[in-house]
Amino acid sequence: MQEVDWSRLKAQELRVLANENAVVILPVASIEQHGPHLPTMTDTRLGYEVAIRAARMAYDRRPTVVTPVVWSGLSEHHMPYGGTLTLSHATFRAVVRDLIDAITRHGFRDILISNSHGGNIIAMQQIIDELAPQVNATLVGTTYPMEAGQALNDLLEDQKTIQHACEAETSMMMALEPDLVDSSDLAALANNSDEGPTFLKAGKASYRWRPFTHLTGNGVAGIPEKSTPEKGEAMLEVSAAALADMIADPQTWAAPSDRRGTELAGVPFRR
Ligand SMILES: [Zn+2]
Repeated sequence: MQEVDWSRLKAQELRVLANENAVVILPVASIEQHGPHLPTMTDTRLGYEVAIRAARMAYDRRPTVVTPVVWSGLSEHHMPYGGTLTLSHATFRAVVRDLIDAITRHGFRDILISNSHGGNIIAMQQIIDELAPQVNATLVGTTYPMEAGQALNDLLEDQKTIQHACEAETSMMMALEPDLVDSSDLAALANNSDEGPTFLKAGKASYRWRPFTHLTGNGVAGIPEKSTPEKGEAMLEVSAAALADMIADPQTWAAPSDRRGTELAGVPFRR
């Protein structure tokens, strides 16, 4: 099988991949509490797996390589439960910026930041907004359950969407790390809330920070009772397939269009 893990390849093999204009996946994740039944590595493990599978699925259409996961994300909202490691926004931004800089210095031009943790979503978009005009590369950011969308949601029985330490994450961890999942009493862990990130809302559509303890006492958001490894394996596959299709689509990496033309309202523009 084609090796797609950057850290398992040799320098000259990565130089060849840069010459072939391979896509680089830079996974970003977290180490944080995932309820009483899942390990703190959950987002990091799932983000790695989805990225590696996506690279393998995409490879024949577009060579793809996956850097090690940036496990240190933004998890301040999980700190009250213990077990959680978090960076400040400034440090997270600096880490991602420096890694993108290193990747582009080797000649890679198409970079997918592949996020597996809700707390990183807004920061990831801010980093892309800031860096995209500055770097000689196309930057795309994705959060895999959002890209997989309905294909992933259709596999859930008791939830409408993926949440946290829930039916989806528990199932996927059962598939990958069964020895690390305590499935002795999943029914007792239910914290039914399909409101998801709406716990961060004020008013009708305004934002107010809240720790995760505002939403759940045991650190679980969702209903993990019907989690199975088979369901988890299917979720990993549809998530990876969604990312692979995006990676292989030339439109994902197309240069921005410039519709100004030579004149706008009679005022000539210089290019
Ligand atoms: Zn998670």
